[in-house]
Order: sequence, then C-alpha cells, then structure tokens
Amino acid sequence: MMSEPAVSTPDTTPLPAPAPAKLVDVSSLTLEGLTRFVSEQLGERAFRSGQIYRWIHQRGATSFDEMTDLSKAFRQKLKERAEIVPLVKDLEQRSVDGTIKYRFKTRDGRYIESVYMPSEDRKTLCVSTQVGCAMACSFCMTGTLGLKRNLTPGEIVAQVHTVNREVRKLENLETWRPLSNLVFMGMGEPLHNFENLKTALSILQSEDGPNFSHRHITVSTVGLVPMIERFGQETDVKLAISLNASTDEQRSKTMPVNRKWNIAALMEACRKFPLRQGRRITFEYVLLRGFNDTDEDAHRLIELLKDVPAKVNLIPYNENPGLGFQTTMEERAEAFREILAQGHIAAFIRQNRGRDIAGACGQLANRGGEGEGKATQAPELP
Ligand code: SAH
Repeated sequence: MMSEPAVSTPDTTPLPAPAPAKLVDVSSLTLEGLTRFVSEQLGERAFRSGQIYRWIHQRGATSFDEMTDLSKAFRQKLKERAEIVPLVKDLEQRSVDGTIKYRFKTRDGRYIESVYMPSEDRKTLCVSTQVGCAMACSFCMTGTLGLKRNLTPGEIVAQVHTVNREVRKLENLETWRPLSNLVFMGMGEPLHNFENLKTALSILQSEDGPNFSHRHITVSTVGLVPMIERFGQETDVKLAISLNASTDEQRSKTMPVNRKWNIAALMEACRKFPLRQGRRITFEYVLLRGFNDTDEDAHRLIELLKDVPAKVNLIPYNENPGLGFQTTMEERAEAFREILAQGHIAAFIRQNRGRDIAGACGQLANRGGEGEGKATQAPELP
C-alpha cells in the first residue's frame, strides 16, 4: 500500500525578533577607529569623527545630546548605532593632604578608584586599569580581590576626563585639562590588560584628545616580563617596576609573579628596555619592616641595579589590617636610602598620600560591589 503523501503544514510560530544590533562604544575607539566607523558604518563624512572625538576626549562629553554642533539627524543616527559607555563618579573622599579619592561605578555595577594628587608643580592622577587584580601580591589590598574584569579603553580614559572636569570646577580653573601627569598605578596590572591600555594611551596622548606628553605618563608593572618588551616596542611612555624585594626568596613569598619570572629575568628585560635619551626606569620598593628593609637588602639592591639606568622610589608600607605587614620606621627608611645613595643609586622616599582615606598605594580595594559576582578566571599570562 502506498503511503499518503506528507502534507506539510505551514509553520506559524512567530519568528524571533531580530536581535538589536550591538551598539559600538565610541569612547573606546582611537581617532582612526572612530573615523572608520563614521565613514564605513554610518556613511558620514570622515571629518565628523574629529568632532565626536573632541567632544568625548577633550570636553568630556558623556552623551551625544551634548554635541550641539552636530545635526539632530546625525545625533539620532549615532544614538541608534553607537553609545558612550558610562563610568559614573559615585563617591569622593578628601584627605587632609589634598589628595582626593574618586570611586566610580561601571555599568555592570562594579567599582574602581582613581586618586588625584595635587602638588605645587603638578597635578597627578593615579589611574586604574582593571576591576580587581590577578597578581595577588600578599601585601596589597587590591590583590585580595582577585580579577573581576579588564577595564575598556573608554573606562580607562573616562577616569581622566571626569577628574579633569571635577578639578576644573573645584579649583575654578580656566584650563580644560588641569591634570598634568598620569600614573598607571591604581587598581589592576596595566600590562595584564595591554591592548586596552595601549588604546587608552593612544587616546590620552592624541592632539585631538587630552594631548598628554609621553614624558608625563608612567605605567607601573609587577614585572610581566614578555609584556615589558612589547610595552617598550609599542609605546613611548615611562616605565616603573614594582621590585619590592632584593632576593628571589623574598619576592616569591610576596609576589607570585616572581615564581614565573624571577628577578634575573626581570632585570634582563630592564636592561633590554629601549630608553629614550636621559630616561631611567623607576623601581618601586615597598619597605616592609624586618622583611626587606635591612642594610643587606640595600646592598643587594645596589648590585641588582648597577647596570640599569635606575631611580628608586622607596615606599613606606601603608598598613592594611589583616595582611600582616608593618611599615618601616622613618629612620630605617632614611638609612636604607643613604646606603643606596652611597652606591650611586638615586633613591627617594615617596611621600605617603591619602592614607587617611585609604587612597594610598596598595589600599585601593573598594568593596562596594562585593557579593555581586565572583572573580572571573584570570586570563592566561603571556
Ligand atoms: N600592578 C601594578 C600597578 C599598581 S602600582 C604594579 O604592581 O606595579 C601600586 C604600587 O603600590 C606597587 O608598586 C605596589 O608594590 C605598591 N603597593 C602595594 N601595596 C602597598 C602598600 N600596602 N603600601 C605601599 N605600597 C604598596
């Protein structure tokens, strides 16, 4: 017997609505990238990108509505295809020494911090590059958080734009860019978020952006050796290394990164680092009482640094309850510095700033977002 021909009934289940096209975060694009987006994706004339870029990276605009010299139709088109991902200032704490710690909330409800440090000859911002940190240095508060995620280039530069705006208001200044110096020494390991760091630097150094000079930007690393080489090849800003110990035994105890790249490997990368004329690498050395602050440590440090153009910043430890380290006494720090000086190593005792607001080195660890999501798996180290 022949089987009945199958009759196909039309499928009447409604089609799912097309997923809304992902908006492009224009605050994370270099001028080049933005120009491509404007001409290739929006079909607008390329020079329009300069207008948008200057609104965001010079004037600190956070919405397309502020861009009043763009036509309404163009602003509408931008709103449909693009966005400026917000980073909202949500808390500020002022120290007696003039330091201000700003806390920002990201769109996904995470918190990061930036620290403004005015002094007579400069206004410096300490910038964060990650939410949390994967490096787990045992003396550092941020290290206890684990890495939550990388900051986007837009979130990195937004810290600078927002604080520029704040300082301009606060100090009643005419200049649109009161900040003079940037140090990438906030939360996170900058070289562990290298691509976004690089894009952020390109924006911060651009003439149509805040136009910071390479001489006024310093990036500090825990010592990710392969990334130091790339950093030297692909950027022109200054390098600081968090050394913090004079032997591998010490360093591996407090800085897990040392088990992967030891002091010898780190110093080799420093010797190969391309330095501009007259420039030196800054070595940060957190003084931990009875742990790395003896005369022998100072002498070993001289040996380590003898064939590198170096400058040492001695950082009196900012105590964090529960982490178990103590700060070195002032006289000990001075004696340590003196030994380095006799060994022809320029060393400075870094003035501690913002301790009273937990805004000093190694104290950034805002718990505002605690409980909202666990630390994500750290990306593989290079
Ligand atoms: N991850 C990068 C960028 C952060 S810089 C790096 O480690 O270089 C932060 C600096 O503060 C580092 O030099 C670190 O060694 C130092 N530091 C961390 N905790 C500290 C603390 N409790 N007191 C003083 N300095 C600290």
